[in-house]
Amino acid sequence: MQISAEKVVILNYTLKDDDDNIIDQSQDAQFAYLHGAQNIIPGLENALADKAKGDKLNVRIDPKEGYGEHNESMIQNVERGMFDMEEELQVGQQFHAEAPDGGMLTVTVTQVEGDEVTVDGNHPLAGIHLNFDVEVMDVRDATKDELEHGHVHGPGCDH
Ligand code: ZN
Repeated sequence: MQISAEKVVILNYTLKDDDDNIIDQSQDAQFAYLHGAQNIIPGLENALADKAKGDKLNVRIDPKEGYGEHNESMIQNVERGMFDMEEELQVGQQFHAEAPDGGMLTVTVTQVEGDEVTVDGNHPLAGIHLNFDVEVMDVRDATKDELEHGHVHGPGCDH
């Protein structure tokens, strides 16, 4: 069975940056996604089209097909008082904020200097080339429920 829209695909993968650092991996055939439902980044989904169980591939994905380009305007300096918390703010902490388009955005604290806090609303992997080492472990038809929900149902699913 080949990978196409409305198939559930189970993958093993290792994701590395250009310096060979492992960013993420799944090697126990537990990662599943619904093809054609934008569950995964476009660059990887496109590369997997028409592949089948047992196929292995190496894909290098540009930021625009991954988590987007790094956008300087998403980095902002804000007053420490904006944060309603008593503990010390630390670099690396993440908060939810309202995006300019009204949606929710995750921002990461990248610098704290006195009363000024720098937050970055870019995805942590924005601007990075993604090197995927992928093996297709299985391909099956999606169930009716999975198609309605737009995602895979499995052991970890609570409905
Ligand atoms: Zn569901």
